[in-house]
Amino acid sequence: MSLLFKGGKIAAEEGPLVPGDVLVVDGVITAVGKKLEAPKGVRVVDVTGRIVAPAMFDSHVHFREPGQEHKEDLAHGSEAAINGGVTGVVMMPNTSPAIDSAGVVRTLLDKAAEVSRIPVYTSGCITKGRAGTELAGIDGMRKLGVTMLTDDGDPVVDPALLKNAMEYATPFGMFFASHCEVPELAGPRALNEGKVSYELGIKGSPACSEEICMDRDIRLAHAAGAHVHIQHVSSALGMETIRWWKERGVRVTAEVSPHHLIFNEDDIGDYDTHYKMNPPLRTEEDNAALLAGLKEGVFDLIATDHAPHSEFEKSQDFVTAPNGITGLESALVSLFDRFVVPGEFGWDLLVKRYSAEPRRMMGLPAVPIEEGKPAELIVFDPAGETTFTREFMKSKSANTPFLDQTLKGSVDLVLLGNEILLERD
Ligand SMILES: [Zn+2]
Repeated sequence: MSLLFKGGKIAAEEGPLVPGDVLVVDGVITAVGKKLEAPKGVRVVDVTGRIVAPAMFDSHVHFREPGQEHKEDLAHGSEAAINGGVTGVVMMPNTSPAIDSAGVVRTLLDKAAEVSRIPVYTSGCITKGRAGTELAGIDGMRKLGVTMLTDDGDPVVDPALLKNAMEYATPFGMFFASHCEVPELAGPRALNEGKVSYELGIKGSPACSEEICMDRDIRLAHAAGAHVHIQHVSSALGMETIRWWKERGVRVTAEVSPHHLIFNEDDIGDYDTHYKMNPPLRTEEDNAALLAGLKEGVFDLIATDHAPHSEFEKSQDFVTAPNGITGLESALVSLFDRFVVPGEFGWDLLVKRYSAEPRRMMGLPAVPIEEGKPAELIVFDPAGETTFTREFMKSKSANTPFLDQTLKGSVDLVLLGNEILLERD
């Protein structure tokens, strides 16, 4: 199959959008330039006014398989990714059973190869069953290609065990992703400790619960010579903690999620569980600090923490309802709507932080729109719009604050190699 994307603007991780045509022959970008002519038999896709960008990559998703397939599964999760312009994901291991051994990893990767149209990677647990008492089957998982170790959903409470794991796995080239939280401080993990928690009469989880653990995990990694990646940073001081350690040359990377950039505790309103996640939404000041941290490069990457839950589960009272919202389908469009449209940042940041850097963290090459590179790209319409109806979304769950909302921007086409995974009229 050969395609010529004609009349668009090309996005890259450095620099502004550049007008140019893109020729793809049998899954490889064979030419990029102005006014390319279509060779015989090439389908011309008119992308005038639209953006051709590297496809996105999400290094933090919960596909709930095995064990909670009523929320999400490999097939629906990966279709949700495609719907949002994402062509690769890393699953978190807080499934049931947990992804803590070669057996579970093998089963999952085999299943993914069968049902998913995009590459699906998985992280593995640090501790067996995420119970925090003994090490998981790290060596077996490593042999199947697992590089990221995490007990996401919970921290590893015992610092000696985490340091042991870091000393053991680092020489294999593995790295650690930390969900930071001090359980004794976090309370029922329902919302931020502050104005809104007092108003609603629910015990809140203070930002220091996250920041203390973050600092601890970075210190442990530093002592063990490990690379630690801090997941879903939610607070201004958390961002500053990462900056402080980075300035000292410690091997720490960090991610921020679209919801922690866009929403804050004031959005919870009348106990709306679509704004309940862990770490919780904090304050408007935190939103501003996280955005500044993203623009300054304190955050290496954006990841959604795509966390599907059924409508029934999210309809429970605010404390009982599970934490998390879906994100794969809305991430790119919502970041475009909230930040690119008002000029906070450009496509270069989106490409760098939500496509290139997460791939590099996973040891994968970035997918720039350049001659000779494999075609892994999206066509995005900045003049289009997306309404996140239940029908639009491919995820098994619809627990997103964007449900039934219309945002600016639309992912019109997703190409992976020789296959058009998505093409909207
Ligand atoms: Zn987490």
